[in-house]
Amino acid sequence: MKLLGTMRIEEDTLYIGGVSTKELAKEYSTPLYVIDEQHVRNVCREYLRNFKVKENGNRVTYAGKAFLPLEMCKIINEEGLCLDVVSGGELYTAYKSGFPMEKVLFHGNNKTIEEIKMGISLGVGRFVADNFYELNTINEFAKKENKVVNVYIRITPGIEAHTHDYIKTGQIDSKFGFTLINDGVVNAVKEILKLENIKLMGLHAHIGSQIFDVDPFVDEVEVMFNIMNDVRSKLGIELPELDLGGGFGIYYTKEDKPKNPKVFCDAILNKAEEMSKKLEYPMPKLIIEPGRSIIGNAGTTLYTVGSIKEIPEVRKYISVDGGMTDNIRPSLYRADYECAIANKMNCKEEELVTVAGKCCESGDILISDAKLPKVESGDILAVATTGAYGYSMSSNYNKIPRPAVVMVKDGNSRVVCKRQSYEDLLASEII
Ligand SMILES: *Cc1c(COP(=O)(O)O)cnc(C)c1O
Repeated sequence: MKLLGTMRIEEDTLYIGGVSTKELAKEYSTPLYVIDEQHVRNVCREYLRNFKVKENGNRVTYAGKAFLPLEMCKIINEEGLCLDVVSGGELYTAYKSGFPMEKVLFHGNNKTIEEIKMGISLGVGRFVADNFYELNTINEFAKKENKVVNVYIRITPGIEAHTHDYIKTGQIDSKFGFTLINDGVVNAVKEILKLENIKLMGLHAHIGSQIFDVDPFVDEVEVMFNIMNDVRSKLGIELPELDLGGGFGIYYTKEDKPKNPKVFCDAILNKAEEMSKKLEYPMPKLIIEPGRSIIGNAGTTLYTVGSIKEIPEVRKYISVDGGMTDNIRPSLYRADYECAIANKMNCKEEELVTVAGKCCESGDILISDAKLPKVESGDILAVATTGAYGYSMSSNYNKIPRPAVVMVKDGNSRVVCKRQSYEDLLASEII
């Protein structure tokens, strides 16, 4: 397992944020999400610096859907990032954490009327409007509240990227946003200009997730500038902001070759500079929306190994006390992870095992073919890079309580989300 962030090995034990994972498991029990706070803050700063937030007034907006406890909102705010929310629940969390509402961007392809009302009355900074139905609803409620709401419109730029592949022309078939075909964006802008309580601030696109190459982003910048230019030449308006979405790829396993935030930021900023000059278009404020790459590598899940089953000549299963309820990604889309025995960090990796969860689903496998030292019941298994889309996608399937989340930094640990109790599980049930 690659050591990430502040991970260190002392004696035989994995330390994160200067805290022994053995001690964490003992003190807080397992499964346990451990967040390396310093690492989160460092990545935030790396983005802010490289995206020229101070110099150019650009913005880095954390995509909250990756991981959004109250404490994460607080850290993101302290570091000076803005925040993406995609639901009333995420918006409520941001609000309760004291996050400045003007720094919130409200996404979603089907915001409900209640969510739109809530966003307007709380005063979110920008709505990313996805369709006319929503624009009309925003306009209507903004009028009632006597407000003018800042809006980006989401468009599907004809670029779709995931990991190493990307498609430049396809991807018109998406549930998200306004399409480019038949002058779709220009016509949309034309309609929006008629809505008195909406102020169009810019365009938004998000081309995918876990993307390793810079090319799709460079192409995206070009496409978006060309659209802005088209809008200008047909309607005579210049847009002051451009939001390019997130999706920067990170390390999960040796297969992944991620680039530093600097590489993506430089490529985007340079291309924007070039397009701005070429089209003589005033440089808009640029926005990026990293989610996974802010929090992914900072998270590690600790489990205790329970039963071990060896099927001779076939496979050896080690079962842990969590699984698809705390990390759905392997079962949902075959996501790969690295792991280690946190109390045997210096032992030779000598056996190939399959790490299974405890849910009643044969698909509840966390890692197939993990190379580990000889595993025994009671060992602590650390699965790395579970910070993004782990806790936020967790469930109570099989009525398994959600694990606690602990932040570690400088030798200290603190709980930021309590482990659910059985009473918590029944809190919303009525007999
Ligand atoms: C999911 C999402 C992001 C963040 O994607 P990551 O892969 O986590 O960086 C950013 N913007 C939008 C609109 C998204 O839906």
